[in-house]
Amino acid sequence: MKILKFGGTSVGSPERMKKLLDIIRPEEKQIVVLSAVSGTTNSLVEISQAYLDGDKRKAKQLTDALHEKYKVFVQELFATEDGKKRGVELITYHFTLIGSLDTELFTPVEEKIVLAQGELLSTALYHFYLAEIGVKSVLLPALDFMKIDEDNEPIVEYIGSHLQTLLDQKAENTLFITQGYICRNAFGEIDNLRRGGSDFTASLIGAAIRADEVQIWTDIDGMHNNDPRVVQGTKPIAQLSFDEAAELAYFGAKILHPQSVFPAQKYKIPVRLLNTMDPAAPGTLITNDSEKGIIKSIAAKDGITAVKIQSSRMLLAYGFLRRVFEVFERYKTPIDMITTSEVAVSLTIDDTKYLAEITKELEDFGTVEVDHDQTIICVVGDFSYNANGFTSSTFSALAKVPIRMISYGGSNYNISLLVKSSDKVEALQSLHKNLFQ
Ligand code: ASP
Ligand code: MG
Repeated sequence: MKILKFGGTSVGSPERMKKLLDIIRPEEKQIVVLSAVSGTTNSLVEISQAYLDGDKRKAKQLTDALHEKYKVFVQELFATEDGKKRGVELITYHFTLIGSLDTELFTPVEEKIVLAQGELLSTALYHFYLAEIGVKSVLLPALDFMKIDEDNEPIVEYIGSHLQTLLDQKAENTLFITQGYICRNAFGEIDNLRRGGSDFTASLIGAAIRADEVQIWTDIDGMHNNDPRVVQGTKPIAQLSFDEAAELAYFGAKILHPQSVFPAQKYKIPVRLLNTMDPAAPGTLITNDSEKGIIKSIAAKDGITAVKIQSSRMLLAYGFLRRVFEVFERYKTPIDMITTSEVAVSLTIDDTKYLAEITKELEDFGTVEVDHDQTIICVVGDFSYNANGFTSSTFSALAKVPIRMISYGGSNYNISLLVKSSDKVEALQSLHKNLFQ
């Protein structure tokens, strides 16, 4: 069994939806995971926000506008009167549901119901379209098997056993379609795997039923070895390890949800990143292997804030770092990079919502310095400590760029450097030249 995930742009228009059959071979055993039509989830977020603000008029306007788009979509997707009728009934049902929420007390429970409508719509529309053209498929309701626990962690065994039961009931079929992103939580309520979560769904399904392969179909030919917006001549990376892929996904390679590789990694399910616009291109293959002796990729993450705490109390003390980290923990603020000296610790965060509170508490320990507009540059590849001089090539590339922090040795496969965001382009370009050309 293969899992094929298509993102919002791949189902973003009736034309694109129809083109999926260039890639999907209905006679092969597979589960197709779809995102919502592009733009839909954003609109649903706005509708929920309007409801949460108590602005029912705005919620209605936004709902009607989205409904109009789907009316056009249905007319273009279906060719027969029967097909169009089914499509219209489907969207009427979903938009009536969204509209009906204006009478109730709108809480996060209702919000998640609204957010779930996008994937419910895209998958049902595609399923109906396939039926219209005589291609048999089974619509698997993700809400019947995708489950998260009290900590919002997916329960892989539950997902596997419930999904397998559904598959077994339809064992004579080959093409299964399901919703990305949506799930049920510990209370049985409708919930989701957070924005961009459809990749995560695909990986979870792949892991849960031990699929042969998970394919993530997007609009580019795999993960690139540098940021194509800033650097010329970037190339798709043929192979990555799961750890390398997670690192790069976190550092801005928008193509993959950072969390999504972990389930596949745990059960060693290969993940392929492929391009709907060029289905024959090899893309990027993610497996457990990490190739020795090469540099894979350079990536950057903007919007980073560096925090330095300097304190003579740190000297020869124990428990100091714990107390520093606890401050960040209390404000649920993740830390990315850390470097320490005997009397100071520097770290970076990208969520500055509670920065003022955090700084205030840290001042109890010592002097606190904050630098905004920083960028983490991450070089991924074979950085095992006895390897081939990549560390020195990395630094010589950055001879002219002031470096604020360096993190090396945390893993064998990456080195991270913090620079001013205004130096990012120069850093990425000269690293590319030194490491790849
Ligand atoms: N539709 C959801 C979103 O836009 C999930 C996804 O596309 O992966 O975030
Ligand atoms: Mg996505």
